Amino acid sequence: MSTTTLIDNAPIIAAPTSTKVHLVGMGRDDISEELLRIGIEPKKVRMRTKQIFHWIYNYGVTSFDQMTNIAKPLRVKLEAAFTLDRPEIVERLISVDGTRKYLIRMSPGVEVESVFIPDVSKTGALCVSSQVGCTLTCTFCHTGTQRLVRNLTAREIVLQVIIARDDLGEWPTTQENRKLTNIVFMGMGEPLYNTDMVGDSLDTICDPEGLGIGRRRITVSTSGVVPEIGPMGARTGAQLAISLHAANDELRSQIMPINKKYPLKELMQACRDYPGLSNSRRITFEYVMLKGVNDQPWHAKQLIKLLRGIPCKVNLIPFNPWPGSDYVCSDMETIKSFSDMVNAAGYASPIRKTRGQDIFAACGQLKSDSEKKRASTLRKEAKLAEN
Ligand code: SAH
Ligand code: SF4
Repeated sequence: MSTTTLIDNAPIIAAPTSTKVHLVGMGRDDISEELLRIGIEPKKVRMRTKQIFHWIYNYGVTSFDQMTNIAKPLRVKLEAAFTLDRPEIVERLISVDGTRKYLIRMSPGVEVESVFIPDVSKTGALCVSSQVGCTLTCTFCHTGTQRLVRNLTAREIVLQVIIARDDLGEWPTTQENRKLTNIVFMGMGEPLYNTDMVGDSLDTICDPEGLGIGRRRITVSTSGVVPEIGPMGARTGAQLAISLHAANDELRSQIMPINKKYPLKELMQACRDYPGLSNSRRITFEYVMLKGVNDQPWHAKQLIKLLRGIPCKVNLIPFNPWPGSDYVCSDMETIKSFSDMVNAAGYASPIRKTRGQDIFAACGQLKSDSEKKRASTLRKEAKLAEN
């Protein structure tokens, strides 16, 4: 691995210490509720919400004094009740290839990772987490070895975007040539086990008066929680990605236990029924290349048959190893011939470039140590109790 990776462990923003209510990350309705609570005249709440929302999400302000269209006495009142602090960034790593990984402490013992991946073109995607850990246990995935700590709230999902925007210096939203243009729910966790919060977070992330990221630029990736696929599409208007990884039930159930609950036939039907599916809004199927497991020509043939009639492309992901993993990545030659076969059948089949591997930020490598922290906290508490 390269030695030029920049490791920056210094918190960029100090941990919030106040007990004030945190506004950053909240949606419009919650902000309105808070304003009512502190006694803002009900008929003015809508207008004030609009102003504050715009300051937080368009300008990224960090102090109420920056809200210049709000009179000083009200700013003082807001300051007394609320804070615009961000959560603590426990660790920030920058890869030699420009990928940035953030470990964010949302609350004591709850740490999440998000990864910013700049593209060679003008775009860049932020890979966000929807849960801390995951209840599913896909055998090739590091997150799958971490038990679920909890679902993230909508606010905590939005905060991941805010932190990346802060770090990239991309305020205001109207700034031209922003690099953070897309959001992918491909971090820790299964977004379709947390659909309400994913949906609510997108209302804020996609709001044109706020963070302003278009719904077409959002991709939600699922391991295949069939009953949630259609409703999520209708609720969010997001692009769908399916972690497929195998085209027959026997193999898929072995490497992705969720397949036992929702087998391929049901999964593919949910894909065919995905709201808004068309040639310009294709589904992405992700397929991790595991040497000797799912990478043979007959696997490619099965895959092609399975995809028949679905507007889609296939992203081939070279397996990213993690400590203790049982798999090996397929040889590049094997991946290329697999890709050629899928391409020849009429499906775009790019091989995903592995990014951020020197900072352990590649697909499937995320695993916070929230679990360990909790265990050590428990030990400390036990010791205190003993004394
Ligand atoms: N839980 C959702 C969202 C996570 S997305 C899902 O499974 O779709 C993370 C993507 O990386 C998924 O496609 C996942 O299957 C893939 N992945 C997991 N572990 C990986 C690994 N070690 N190497 C490459 N890709 C991996
Ligand atoms: Fe969970 Fe997705 Fe990893 Fe499977 S691949 S364990 S669903 S995060």
